[in-house]
Amino acid sequence: MTGTVHTLEINPQLPERLERLEELANNLWYSWDRPTRGLFASLSAPLWKATNHNPKAFLKRADQKRLEATAENPVFLAALSRVVSAYDTYHEMPGMAHVHGHPFRDDDLIAYFCAEFGFHESLPIYSGGLGILAGDHCKAASDLGLPFVGVGLLYRQGYFQQTLSADGHQHATYTDSDFDDLPVSPVLDADGREILVPVELPGRTVQAKVWEVRVGHVRLVLLDTWLAQNSEHDRDITHRLYGGDKTTRIEQEILLGIGGVRALAALGLKPTVWHVNEGHAAFLILERIRRLVAGGLPYAAALEAVAANVVFTTHTPVPAGHDHFAEEMIRRYFAHWCQELGIGCEQLLALGAEPGKAEFNMTALALRGSRHHNGVSRIHGDVSADICRYLWPQIEPAENPMEYVTNGVHLPTFLAPEWFETFERYLGIGWQARQTDPANWDGIELIPDATFWSIRQQLKAKLFELVRERIREQHKRNQGSPSHLDRLLKLVDPDNPKVLTIGFARRFATYKRAALLFQDPSWLREIIEQADRPVLFLFAGKAHPADLPGQEIIRQIAQMARLPEFEGRILLVEGYDLHLSRSLVAGVDVWLNNPIYPLEASGTSGMKAAMNGALNLSVLDGWWGEGYDEGEGLPNGWAIKPVPGHLDDAQRDAEEARALYELLQDHVIPTYYRTGPMGYSPEWIAMAKRSIASIAPRFNVIRMVGEYAQKFYGPAAAHGRRYADADFAAARDVAAWKSRVRAAWPGVRLRRLDSPERRLRFGHSVHVELAVQLNGLAPADVTVEALVGRPGHRPGHGRVRRYALHFAGHAENGEAQYRLELTPELCGKLEYRLRIFPAHPALIHPFETGLMIWL
Ligand SMILES: *Cc1c(COP(=O)(O)O)cnc(C)c1O
Repeated sequence: MTGTVHTLEINPQLPERLERLEELANNLWYSWDRPTRGLFASLSAPLWKATNHNPKAFLKRADQKRLEATAENPVFLAALSRVVSAYDTYHEMPGMAHVHGHPFRDDDLIAYFCAEFGFHESLPIYSGGLGILAGDHCKAASDLGLPFVGVGLLYRQGYFQQTLSADGHQHATYTDSDFDDLPVSPVLDADGREILVPVELPGRTVQAKVWEVRVGHVRLVLLDTWLAQNSEHDRDITHRLYGGDKTTRIEQEILLGIGGVRALAALGLKPTVWHVNEGHAAFLILERIRRLVAGGLPYAAALEAVAANVVFTTHTPVPAGHDHFAEEMIRRYFAHWCQELGIGCEQLLALGAEPGKAEFNMTALALRGSRHHNGVSRIHGDVSADICRYLWPQIEPAENPMEYVTNGVHLPTFLAPEWFETFERYLGIGWQARQTDPANWDGIELIPDATFWSIRQQLKAKLFELVRERIREQHKRNQGSPSHLDRLLKLVDPDNPKVLTIGFARRFATYKRAALLFQDPSWLREIIEQADRPVLFLFAGKAHPADLPGQEIIRQIAQMARLPEFEGRILLVEGYDLHLSRSLVAGVDVWLNNPIYPLEASGTSGMKAAMNGALNLSVLDGWWGEGYDEGEGLPNGWAIKPVPGHLDDAQRDAEEARALYELLQDHVIPTYYRTGPMGYSPEWIAMAKRSIASIAPRFNVIRMVGEYAQKFYGPAAAHGRRYADADFAAARDVAAWKSRVRAAWPGVRLRRLDSPERRLRFGHSVHVELAVQLNGLAPADVTVEALVGRPGHRPGHGRVRRYALHFAGHAENGEAQYRLELTPELCGKLEYRLRIFPAHPALIHPFETGLMIWL
């Protein structure tokens, strides 16, 4: 045939009775409501699969006759009516936070910025953990009914699709999305025109189109530059998630941060809290400063006013993982910004400066431009406080303003549908609304073991169906033989899914050590080769195309999987995405995670597995450091204790692999196979029940977002208002005060006047008297205090008591005098220390200046 090929797509006309399917397809409510997805799947399973479970694309391609017949099918109509009624009820109710109380006013709005969002495989604008967390955050904001809007980028290409060759070579394919197929729609202005926002880049202005996504009660605003009026280069800015080079990266981040602020303004939205989720979005701070300065506020006051209501969450425990740009790049991209603000570029560069580095660090910018900061688990909070200590150089990391909120997952998204009915029966109607209450989960104990086991087996059987399908496709493409395929799938039997199945699926980043299991192949073989106690390992995950060591790990696992002794016992499944993830976390018996401590910021897949009744076998890092509970003889999983840091890497890996093997051979496998007459192990089920009951109430995203609301969003909204009131009086005051204090601080001196006593009777007091050279500061500008605690307790330790010294007048030489009659409340050996730091009643964190002198 010759000539141009013209494409044409004929869209069906939805029968009237099915009209609401359209609405269901355009609200990501379907991403956590299984019955909604079930409706579409029931219309045509092959089309559902072919459209990658995308309701909108599905409706565009469904067969007209089929739809018409369905409109007459009472069973379908009844199911539709149930779904629609649940959908309407959800949207009519104000959300859980309104029932339990929340700290917001009617005009509050939380704007949540992130470079990726993972809701469901049908909206491919995520790569992994960060995006899924952001998607879950939006879902929880909707469930809670928070005043909330998400902001992100609409990439034409999401993350790559992964295929693996027989020897484990990863092949990355990128496909362009057709935006018409995605559950997104352009935002229109009052005249029905699409909304565009301009963003200046060197030598040109780029236009970005504003889209929106409905996520239950809340909206997600997305920007894209694929517009005729943009140059070819600029059209590609939002082409690929984490694609391109440093130029693409900075342009994407400018679009997200600066374009995002402008998009919200264009929509008439006025956020009172700004959440920068990971450093990628931190340029929003610069745009907000620019707007205030344009309104007449001085730069330093504008920075204080902006920071007052910015919340910043860091997700990376390694400094190299923080986004950096060459200073020259920042100068080039932000020259007009400096000009407009009337500040030197040095001042801008200072916002992203890190001592000893000549690069602009987005984490540093985010920290300097926010007054509420957190890591994503207790361990990660400590690690982050340490990494970021240079921002508060005179403050001990334990006391600096870096806090933590441990991640959580969206329960309805990741809990298998098979559990819902059982939970409703044993936890009671409305259990989802009570999910953060531990007592709500007591009912798990009541589920009969046989019922519990049967659901677990069903979930594993479903997983096995999917694994068989994927391995078959993989095998066929790689031209393997049928008998080889049989050998591979011999344990993966949906009709008899008894084999102990251990899952490991996540990004193949080197610190996750996916190949740790193969440290000692002969030991491993001994453990898993016993005919009466078979073990199956399922591996899945992608390595970033630029991460060659990560891809090497995939090859290593593929090679192990081909050894005769491991064939059919180690399977590597390609194409890890949300679909495969939901299936894996629900179907495996054990979820394995063995990262290098303390590099797993939180990890969330183990939480998903736990709430489905799988047991975690993990290094005590990230969330598992808080989640693991030894219990009294009945632990809720197994912990690999990280070996102390002084061993070299090889020794550490060897030690931790040994701990892993020992747990497998002495605990995991025997417990699983200690089956009673019913064919299951009562001890295993007891552990699995404890795992659900102890983990589900704490590591769900409702608890997480609730904590953000109480700890950060509520206070940030209040601080933002306080700083802005009366023409930014507080912001101006704090800015002027900080500048005065910073100038005077190097000359502040502290000396002791009394001669310290060393021994005392209980009830008596020590007299402490200090002379302070305030170098021009007033006594009201500082706090002088004594810290008292047990030997070895560092400042920041919960049991260290603080006592303020009283200002007692100026001496003749101008020194200020401070006194305290210190009466310790404890007997035994104590330590006390003395210190001075700047204090101002409007500060958001007492140590935010980073200044402190110890005597
Ligand atoms: C949950 C999830 C992740 C994150 O898992 P981690 O345990 O944090 O590594 C990544 N990808 C997918 C598809 C997920 O569902």
